[in-house]
Amino acid sequence: MWVSFFIVSLIWIWPQCGFSEWYKRDEPIMGTRVFVELWHDDPAKAALLMQGVMDEMERINQLMSPYKTSSELARVNRDAATAPVQVSQELFDLVQKANHYSDLSGGAFDITFASVGHQFDYRNRRRPGQQEQATAAALIGYRSLKLDPVTRTLEFGKPGMRIDLGGIAKGYAVDQAVSGLLAAGVEHAIVTAGGDSRLIGDHRGRPWMLGIKHPRGEEHVITLPLSDSAISTSGDYERFFEEGGVRFHHIIDPAKGDSARELLSVTVLAEHSVDADALSTTLFVLGPQKGLKLVNSLAGVSAILIDRTGKVRYSTDLVDPTMH
Ligand code: ADP
Ligand code: MG
Repeated sequence: MWVSFFIVSLIWIWPQCGFSEWYKRDEPIMGTRVFVELWHDDPAKAALLMQGVMDEMERINQLMSPYKTSSELARVNRDAATAPVQVSQELFDLVQKANHYSDLSGGAFDITFASVGHQFDYRNRRRPGQQEQATAAALIGYRSLKLDPVTRTLEFGKPGMRIDLGGIAKGYAVDQAVSGLLAAGVEHAIVTAGGDSRLIGDHRGRPWMLGIKHPRGEEHVITLPLSDSAISTSGDYERFFEEGGVRFHHIIDPAKGDSARELLSVTVLAEHSVDADALSTTLFVLGPQKGLKLVNSLAGVSAILIDRTGKVRYSTDLVDPTMH
């Protein structure tokens, strides 16, 4: 009698308490690899949450991709030189955030870099001629991008200008996906889009271990123990080609209208991915001196830079934890 009661209770209780496990999934979205791993006690709910992450990434891709002719961003690039273009609050806010980093960095981060950037085709090793590049470089300048918060419009001050959110949109998308997981009560997870990751909690009793890739090899040069934070790496090895010993890659120094070449890799740690993403691109352009100066002035942000000699440099808070 007691035995059968025990067995019946067990059969009833067993599925209620469930078995927590790690669930993971990855998909190619936004021209990169999107990865999510989370700890959950319900396989069906875990699958729904992971689908939610992918859906949110795809939604933002459809909104902000410069390559999809139907995206809002493509519409801006097509029409904003002729007349102000009204955009969603979401796109407007992200452009405003990008401009904040432009102000903070004296224009090192500048989404109008695309005036030059879009003349490069890294996969097919194509670059503009010297004259063409100089003409395009003259169109860079976020101050010629007019934002009107009342009408929620964007307008280009110069015909031929272009914008691209490639230096900040992935970080934003990661934050959005993480917000969804947090709202659903997830306590341990990682969401990654290319070089941008954000962690919820720890890896159950120990930190997540994230590696920084050697800029000229596959191995990791540094492994960082992290929890509840965002990490973003920008490198000159992601999209590039070489010609006559010169590397043409996807991070453009707006002042030169050419690839930034003082650093090989920049990793930024921050609370949110949107900031880590924008700042890793910003520091890459600024170079070691100005880059470290900027990061050292920001609370709650750390950086690891690899310069062109391969030397690793750290923000002061990582060298001396009493500094922050
Ligand atoms: P990814 O993860 O794609 O390598 P990064 O965070 O390293 O992205 O940023 C590189 C991307 O940022 C480029 O592909 C381009 O879209 C954009 N970008 C390049 N130069 C600048 C710049 N000076 N300011 C803002 N965005 C830039
Ligand atoms: Mg970035």
